[in-house]
Amino acid sequence: MEPSNVPRRQPHVLVLPTPAQGHINPMLQFSKRLVSRGVKATLAVTVHLAASMHADPSSPVGLETISDGHDVGGFMEAGSIEAYQTDLRIVGSRTLAELIRKLDRSGRPLDAVIYDGFLPWALDVARQCSKLGVVFFTQTCAVNNVYYHVHRGLLPLPLSGPSVEVPGLPPLKPSEMPSFVYKVGSYPAFRDLLVNQFTNVDDADFVLFETFYELEKEVVEWMSANLWPLKTIGPTLPSLYLDKRLPDDTAYGIDLFTPTTSSAVSAWLSHHPPRSVVYVSFGSMADLDPSQFSELAHGLALAGHPFLWVVRSSEQHKLPRDLMDSIPSEEALILPWCNQLEVLASDAIGCFVTHCGLNSVIEAICLGVPMVAMPQWTDQTTNAKFVEDVWRVGVRARADESGVVGREEVNRRVREVVGGGERGREMAESARRWMAAAKAAIGEGGSSDRNIDEFVEELTSRASMQ
Ligand code: UDP
Repeated sequence: MEPSNVPRRQPHVLVLPTPAQGHINPMLQFSKRLVSRGVKATLAVTVHLAASMHADPSSPVGLETISDGHDVGGFMEAGSIEAYQTDLRIVGSRTLAELIRKLDRSGRPLDAVIYDGFLPWALDVARQCSKLGVVFFTQTCAVNNVYYHVHRGLLPLPLSGPSVEVPGLPPLKPSEMPSFVYKVGSYPAFRDLLVNQFTNVDDADFVLFETFYELEKEVVEWMSANLWPLKTIGPTLPSLYLDKRLPDDTAYGIDLFTPTTSSAVSAWLSHHPPRSVVYVSFGSMADLDPSQFSELAHGLALAGHPFLWVVRSSEQHKLPRDLMDSIPSEEALILPWCNQLEVLASDAIGCFVTHCGLNSVIEAICLGVPMVAMPQWTDQTTNAKFVEDVWRVGVRARADESGVVGREEVNRRVREVVGGGERGREMAESARRWMAAAKAAIGEGGSSDRNIDEFVEELTSRASMQ
């Protein structure tokens, strides 16, 4: 039968993120985009996360679980990164296969597994179960191109020389590379995880990236011409903040932490004039030194702007109590977790002091908020380089010889962004231009919108022929 005569049926995909907030958010959002095009999408999280997370019950994306072997204690119970990764791979592979069989017995059998690049074993499981395999990368094309070159032995470690050349990228200083690449011996388990993303990528049926074409044009062109026909599908913020075409898509919908209620946050923000407040967050995983907490707090106080700082409950003991107690509550709000998108979208916010996790960076870009970059590790160092020098939407606060960003540096950088000077105005203007480009990419006919259409079209024809 000619492919055009094959009856077409809407595919069913299983979406498998790494069990972490910064991976669930983009993969869940991509799932919603697929559902809006008639695809059935089911998201799989670990049993441990499912038991503790807050999930929107009205989500159009189905929810299922696999096991990482630590249903009660999760990552903390495993004892080490290595042990957790091994358990996740072994128990995860077995329970993923069981889940695929269970979904196959349901009314709508499964066609494809869309798996996080951090979990290459999921492709082996998909293949064993005769499903299509779609890899979804949750770091930038730039960062993944670096890891790809390390994986293929094209970028020997340790790095040498003052500058590193990787095709498709501007010259990078070693310290602007991902930390696992330039800090020899730091977190070898994570380095292996990231480099091993490419062990079987050539066998994947589709290669997707969380970013958008315009943001990474040169490297996307290079990778598409030399590696795989990749598709950029972002930005992956809820539609409310971008194209508004998915009427019910107003929030990510899965929170691994309990956010402070939005009304309390917006009441505090409403007392401050436009672009006056500094928002500070280091995401879901960063583990700052107490000395860094102290320098940051003093730096924020010196800068003299009101600040809203997300400090997870497990980190709050590191805050310099005396200083914090001396700042009036209308000038400083400390929250254990918040709806970051609502905060960044507020007119009151003038600057985002961020660890440069990719989701936070893209959210700031989409909402036009200039940044002070304070990268800690992993891809954040490279993201910070792009924020400052390529996209020109922020400045990097630089650490001293002891590795701490001092209070004067924090003060100077925050003032540079919100102080009304020339550089601040330039960054705000760049931020506005990138915001427009981000919205255009996912809007009707934009680069990511077309890529998602093409993906659904190809997936549908291949699923119909299976
Ligand atoms: N986030 C949030 N509330 C907070 C802090 C962060 O909802 O108080 C979200 C943020 O919007 C982003 C994600 O958590 O989508 C963090 O991902 P990112 O890649 O920035 O950093 P990671 O946590 O992976 O280091």
